[in-house]
Amino acid sequence: MLTAPAVRTGQPRRLRLAGLLLLAVSALVSCHNDPVQHAEYFVFGTLVEVSLAQADEQDAVQAFTQIQDMLQSMHQDWHAWEPGRLQDINQAFAAGTAIEADNDVLALVRRSQTLEQLSGGRFNPAIGRLVALWGFHTSDYPVLGPPPTAAAIEQQVSHRPSMADIRIDASLIYSTNPWVQLDFGGIAKGLAVDRIADYLKEAGFRHAIINAGGDLRAFGQRASRPWRIAVRNPLSGVAGSIDIRQDEAVFTSGNYERYRLAPDERRYPHIIDPRSGWPAEHVMAATVIAADALVADAAATALVVAGLAEWREVADGLAIDTLFLTDENGTIYASKTMRQRLQAAPGVRIEALPGER
Ligand code: AMP
Ligand code: MG
Repeated sequence: MLTAPAVRTGQPRRLRLAGLLLLAVSALVSCHNDPVQHAEYFVFGTLVEVSLAQADEQDAVQAFTQIQDMLQSMHQDWHAWEPGRLQDINQAFAAGTAIEADNDVLALVRRSQTLEQLSGGRFNPAIGRLVALWGFHTSDYPVLGPPPTAAAIEQQVSHRPSMADIRIDASLIYSTNPWVQLDFGGIAKGLAVDRIADYLKEAGFRHAIINAGGDLRAFGQRASRPWRIAVRNPLSGVAGSIDIRQDEAVFTSGNYERYRLAPDERRYPHIIDPRSGWPAEHVMAATVIAADALVADAAATALVVAGLAEWREVADGLAIDTLFLTDENGTIYASKTMRQRLQAAPGVRIEALPGER
């Protein structure tokens, strides 16, 4: 959420482009009379907003078109259950055959291997079969119906799918474990946000926010002031605000929006503990600030799995010091550095994380 004071000037101009992703481009003008160029896209089931401060309008429009192309190809490449590059790889893994992969895929696999290891296996994008078993390969939430049987879940967990089972040999990739299926749903947004940020920086933009449904990365400033962003809270809507320093990503993972609703009204959230095969239910949400969006995204997912009992293992492993967890009552448990930075919204209570003062 962008909270910098802004009003839309006139009707947003709609760009006619090949794809349908780019919804609108408009100029926003703050009370400082500092125009911000703004574009909105719909991708990964989320509204992605890109705002550029102190940018030339022509340059901005050109960049927005480029970003449109980037998002479109990422959507196709990284989709966990629609036909595309990832599905071909997953079929090869299941069949035990090697498949050619480009540098993008190899780089993401390598980074994910590290993230799984550093998060103590709590973030694990090799559990695509488990995510599918729970019915979470869908855009329609809530998923309705009873959970899978304990036996079906146990069968998957007993095969211990892990990124460590994946081998890379030059440009070939294969899995030594046929139960491994890649699902990058836990970092897709982070990956996209980083790509856009890297592209914008390379293109010479110095002040930007890339906001994917409240998960964002921002760099530079807004009218000589830090970008101020609102942070979500499951119960009250907004937990508070944070001023961004130089270049940072802020990501929240929650298990309250996407879940399976069983006939007995029980809810089974979409973030799964890879160690048990069952949804993580300890906390409602986790918010992380990190230097890049991919790590913030992976860490937020891993922290939901970790909960209040194990948060420190994830924080230490992934070198995260600015984070908070929200329990089912809406109470926020924040790390010391987060407490120093989060300006709590009225009525929002903030406690220290267990084991921290
Ligand atoms: P996020 O909203 O970033 O926390 O990502 C949640 C998505 O990541 C789910 O919808 C699944 O596709 C996938 N996922 C679920 N549990 C895990 C896990 N433990 N590690 C990695 N990805 C997961
Ligand atoms: Mg995530």
